[in-house]
Amino acid sequence: MDLKSLIRDVPDFPKPGILFRDLTTLLQNQAGLRYVIDQLVEKHANDGIHYVAGIESRGFIFGAPLAYRLGAGFIPLRKPGKLCAPVYAVEYELEYGRDRLEMHQDAVQPGQRVLIVDDVIATGGTAAAAAGLIQKAQAELHGFAFIVELTELGGRQKLPNVPITTLVTY
Ligand code: AMP
Repeated sequence: MDLKSLIRDVPDFPKPGILFRDLTTLLQNQAGLRYVIDQLVEKHANDGIHYVAGIESRGFIFGAPLAYRLGAGFIPLRKPGKLCAPVYAVEYELEYGRDRLEMHQDAVQPGQRVLIVDDVIATGGTAAAAAGLIQKAQAELHGFAFIVELTELGGRQKLPNVPITTLVTY
């Protein structure tokens, strides 16, 4: 399937110079949505994944159906202040300033195997922070899955040496 034809390119969003890859047009397409989830299931069905950890917010949309299909649980990795119980937190650099991801401390037990999911990997800072959360919990990071990889930003160089699945590259 030609996924690029289902992804909308929006120049200068959310600020000048950024070419935003909008996946809402993929999500609204029944065949497209089914295809991307099926592809991720096929690639990870035999990996013994205990949890899919989705990065807020678009990682939730792809991560939850993937967890369901893999027979795994789902863990939300959230922006600061959204989670209600004790959290692990990892700060990371943005182009301007810093941001932070949080995960409930009791979301995963040491040694359990986790797959991190997001819609897009750009600079890799967000996904690297997500990996830091899994490490703090002493869980096993199996790998990463993204729908889209923006290769020229070199994001995968920031990630630990584990398998990375991407369905579309620009
Ligand atoms: P990064 O930490 O730079 O890898 O940025 C990843 C996060 O920002 C992901 O959660 C994406 O949803 C979002 N993002 C960054 N750049 C883009 C882009 N060009 N198009 C769509 N989403 C993007």
